[in-house]
Amino acid sequence: MGNKLQNQVAIVTGASSGIGTGVAKALAAEGAIVVVNNSSEHSHDAAIQILNEIKSAGGQGIVYQCDVSKEDQVQAMFAETIKQFGTVDILVNNAGLQDDAPFTEMTLAQWNHVISINLTGQFLCAREAIREFLRRGMQPEKSLALGKIICMSSVHEVIPWAGHANYAASKGGIKLLMQTLAQEFAPKKIRINSIGPGAIKTPINKEAWDTPEAEAKLLTLIPYGRVGITDDIGKAAVWLASDDSDYVNGVTLFVDGGMTLFPGFSTNG
Ligand code: NAD
Repeated sequence: MGNKLQNQVAIVTGASSGIGTGVAKALAAEGAIVVVNNSSEHSHDAAIQILNEIKSAGGQGIVYQCDVSKEDQVQAMFAETIKQFGTVDILVNNAGLQDDAPFTEMTLAQWNHVISINLTGQFLCAREAIREFLRRGMQPEKSLALGKIICMSSVHEVIPWAGHANYAASKGGIKLLMQTLAQEFAPKKIRINSIGPGAIKTPINKEAWDTPEAEAKLLTLIPYGRVGITDDIGKAAVWLASDDSDYVNGVTLFVDGGMTLFPGFSTNG
């Protein structure tokens, strides 16, 4: 166990699988008290198992079910966290999904589904977090910042993605939501940054890496020559949440093995 985030209260949305799980465990391993958010009854058992793993490793936390696209549920999650632990110090806006379709076949329901969770969900959670940071005031014994928010974006905040217009639009939206909030609240000493994962092995993109053929095709997009793992993102999240990154505000940290380096151009000299 480390102590970079000792006694800081962190809400990690969508923490019952994939990147959210990796982030929740990494924050807890640095001493944070972690709210493992899951979205529905279906993911309750998985969330409980993750909390048990956190506790077995010496960490602390709770499981809280909440759909991040629902204002009343988000407000209730923050209220319960503050009731149990006094405040919130770190928000990791991680929950997200894909609902893909060729653009001319994409329904309004598919568009709204992705935007309401990936983008509106980040708005709702960030608003509650910032309200709480401002209410609570500085805690110099915990952190140099009033509060920290990490938005889980994607390489698709800069790389267009045919067949995924709703997802790419949500991530492009997160980029300017994050930067605007960072600009607005830097004078209050709130730090807001994004992580832009490349291809990380999780259920969201299983078909892209779970056969040798699929993985070989995926690797043509990754100059560093390996598909990412959730630990890669967990380590980045710890850094962005801790005072080690105190002078970092309003950036997207791409954790992508070089996917945003336009590898298609590397043999075009
Ligand atoms: P995942 O499917 O394993 O996890 C997504 C999580 O979000 C799940 O726990 C799910 O229950 C939760 N979720 C979905 N709807 C929700 C809602 N309404 N309320 C609360 N939680 C909800 O996928 P992942 O790869 O771990 O994705 C996590 C984040 O990382 C997403 O924002 C995704 O866009 C982003 N991302 C992933 C990759 C990758 O390669 N895996 C790359 C770039 C960005």
